[in-house]
Amino acid sequence: MRHDPVPPTDFAVAASRVTIDVGACVANWRDIAARSKAATGAAVKADAYGLGAEIIAPALARVGCRDFFVATIEEGAQLRGLLPDARIFSVSGLWPGQEALAIARRIIPVAVSPEQLELIAALGGALDHALFIDTGMNRLGLTPRQALDYAQSGGKPVMVMSHLACADEPDHPMNARQNEFFQPLAARFGEAESSLSSSAGILLGLDYHYDLTRPGIALYGGLTMAGFTPRPVATAEARVIQIRTATAGETVSYGARQKLARDSRIAILGAGYADGWHRSASGAGAPLRDIVAKGGAVMLSGRPAPILGRITMDLTMVDITDIPDNLVRIGDYAEFFGAAIRIEDAARAAGTISYELLTGLGKRYVRRIV
Ligand SMILES: *Cc1c(COP(=O)(O)O)cnc(C)c1O
Repeated sequence: MRHDPVPPTDFAVAASRVTIDVGACVANWRDIAARSKAATGAAVKADAYGLGAEIIAPALARVGCRDFFVATIEEGAQLRGLLPDARIFSVSGLWPGQEALAIARRIIPVAVSPEQLELIAALGGALDHALFIDTGMNRLGLTPRQALDYAQSGGKPVMVMSHLACADEPDHPMNARQNEFFQPLAARFGEAESSLSSSAGILLGLDYHYDLTRPGIALYGGLTMAGFTPRPVATAEARVIQIRTATAGETVSYGARQKLARDSRIAILGAGYADGWHRSASGAGAPLRDIVAKGGAVMLSGRPAPILGRITMDLTMVDITDIPDNLVRIGDYAEFFGAAIRIEDAARAAGTISYELLTGLGKRYVRRIV
């Protein structure tokens, strides 16, 4: 068998495609930075929320971002090659055996437990570290008591961090409570910088900013809040493979759960849950719709087309009955979210959040960076 070189993929005719607007991401970062006197970092974990850390992190560094947050030492090590001068923090800390990599790549582990602090102490100062304190989320972090003990014992993190549980609900009492908890604890570490807020926390106001903020989702277009409307960064699309007509009473897709109430025109789109078009966004009538009132819709030639029946692995059916005949053709691109449908709306229709839509984009798309 011969192995011919694979011809380059062509965005213009791709079965499914994602456009990533790096300029919009950079503009979002600048908007967020302009709202704060603190330094503004960037969360680029999970490959910059699925959009490509390789492109996004250097673009943010070019406009002045100096601090980057990933989850793991391995992610940080990869990023180091692209960001020779930045500070890179791994917010899940480090594991025994990863010390040499962390030192070689200058990754700052955010210690989340006494065990991790011991591991770092054993390195005798070869590796800077930060400290994560749990102030009420019961996710990772030292308890306040453990943090105080560490301060007392002369621990010298470069930064003290915590994370808000309810920042996307500005009126939630948890916000002020966590802030009041964090402030004196951070102060116990003298010269260490402090950092509390991710995207939503930044929008709560200056009291939440400390020395450094850690926005993620707002940079990627997925958080509208408190007068902040980010530019969309990712647009996910798939083509219309076939257009069919069906009569009232017929059913659509697996399980035959969606019964057509009228004679319908249906467009079959070439993307499904393997591409991150969550099955939970399936049309009204599918049992998964229990969580939200109605299913999702896509945008086709500037008009919404509701999803019909269950989304399948590679294909999604949408109702184009209300769109004039001449406006939808085979080969047209339908948008799942992006420039025309806000990602937060698409997420809500799927019973999830923008973060999950972004990080769940499949591997099959042809990607274009603009
Ligand atoms: C992911 C993450 C962030 C960014 O959160 P967004 O809500 O996306 O802004 C900030 N801090 C920590 C510790 C994180 O894990």
